[in-house]
Amino acid sequence: MNLLTPILFFAAAAAALPASAQQPARPDLIVAIAVDQLSGPLFSQYRPHFTGGFKRLSEGVVFATGYQAQAATETCPGHATILTGAHPARSGIIANSWMNLNAAREDKRIYCAEDERVPGSSGDNYTVSPFHLKVPALGDRMKAANPRSRVVAVAGKDRSAVMMGGHNPDHRWWWSRDRFVTHADAPQPPVAAQVNSSVARALAQARPAIAPSPFCEAKAKPIQVGQRTVGTNRYQRVAGDASAFSASPELDAATLAMAAALTQQLQLGKSGHTDLLAISLAATDLVGHRYGNGGAEMCLQLQTLDSDLGSFFAVLDRLGLNYAVVLTADHGGLDIPERQGPPATRVDPALNPKALSAAVAQRLGLNGEVIRGDGAFGDMYIDRSDPARNAAIQTATKELLAGHPQVEAVLGFAELAAMPLPSGSPESWTPAQRARASFDPERSGDLVVLLKPQVTPIASPTGTYVATHGSPWEYDRQVPIIFWWKGIQRQERSEPAMTVDIMPTLARMIGLTVPAAEIDGRCLDLPGYRCPAR
Ligand SMILES: [Zn+2]
Repeated sequence: MNLLTPILFFAAAAAALPASAQQPARPDLIVAIAVDQLSGPLFSQYRPHFTGGFKRLSEGVVFATGYQAQAATETCPGHATILTGAHPARSGIIANSWMNLNAAREDKRIYCAEDERVPGSSGDNYTVSPFHLKVPALGDRMKAANPRSRVVAVAGKDRSAVMMGGHNPDHRWWWSRDRFVTHADAPQPPVAAQVNSSVARALAQARPAIAPSPFCEAKAKPIQVGQRTVGTNRYQRVAGDASAFSASPELDAATLAMAAALTQQLQLGKSGHTDLLAISLAATDLVGHRYGNGGAEMCLQLQTLDSDLGSFFAVLDRLGLNYAVVLTADHGGLDIPERQGPPATRVDPALNPKALSAAVAQRLGLNGEVIRGDGAFGDMYIDRSDPARNAAIQTATKELLAGHPQVEAVLGFAELAAMPLPSGSPESWTPAQRARASFDPERSGDLVVLLKPQVTPIASPTGTYVATHGSPWEYDRQVPIIFWWKGIQRQERSEPAMTVDIMPTLARMIGLTVPAAEIDGRCLDLPGYRCPAR
């Protein structure tokens, strides 16, 4: 991938250190990678075909069936679990956005990574901030224990950089339309501008189609979805098309190039104190939404990412770093129903919040929008100024949806608030317990609607968005959790680890104490790193 070439050039100057098979007591650099929308089943399906970075990681400790345990399997909650050890119920990040019907602003939709204290802030036009994250992330804990530890976050989405980087990273960079950006008052290392220039040059050129491997070629079958045909795209792109650049393997290559460049310029892992590099790779998600995850597009994305991850690790090797990697995902995903066939289906348009609101209002003889929500599932908000009216709307909605063939459950606020946080194996949690894990009394809706499995909550795809995630079902909850370092003893682990277990496990590796009462996850035993007795 040409975007990584300049970075490989930078790194070539660094002296290569002899590889050591001995894992020292503490890594100098933790590299935490989230591959947005990489489900456990998708990883397992592609695993035998990987030859690059994914293959290297596959030779570490692999929990192929890890869990994002909560019902809200979305980007912001998912990324927040990875390095905080906290379920969304504790982190406060219950969705990509939620509603505050009492907010003193016109737009009642609150974005997870906005600073709503900034005058004029809205769900679409905001200052990027960790303000809503109620807990510290690993980087915050590392810096509290040792202020000389450095924390860098680089991501394809602003919310991913925020939720993995925590409250006080040294650098936080995210992709914004056609370049990486950071906060207005943040330091701008020269290498960031160099990577942006490389990106601009790549973007200004047309991109030829990617040549598929026979494995990917076999997946290239055209599928009609609305007015579009998906399944056979090879990422050919005209010069300057930033949208096509973003929803392609090029975005992840650029993100890895930025991460590698910052690692080298900032000398991460060279100070004698453990540093943290958090990376979120967004292209798999953007590809999944645009094409579904069962066609040639996803195959080419994962094949290219595998190769680019290999190049990225080669850079870290050449820098002579003693690093440990954890790779996981913020959530999984579901392929388009048009390719899967029955029982997979698209949601009944009557379940969209506007239609549902109109039906409930008519039933109760009310006027206006009585239910607000972001889609046909998840949190639904009802005005709370009149408790009797609120209760009547909740009851009418439940009655209306009872017996709907696509509705699994409609959970009320009081019902979720009264439940204890679930514990034990996430495999055995009930749908209501999964919803409880992403319930926050300050931010959750009056109702939480869960759809049946295999229902894609996009009624009729009109734009480029054909597939999604967000359900409480295994295809959205299961994600790989992989640990790797040089010389690690290979292990296949079948226990259902959770992404909230990652933070305490990494903390154990670097000798950081995290009180069990402050988090939901637990340390996982890894070769050479036994967890403290509990
Ligand atoms: Zn997504």
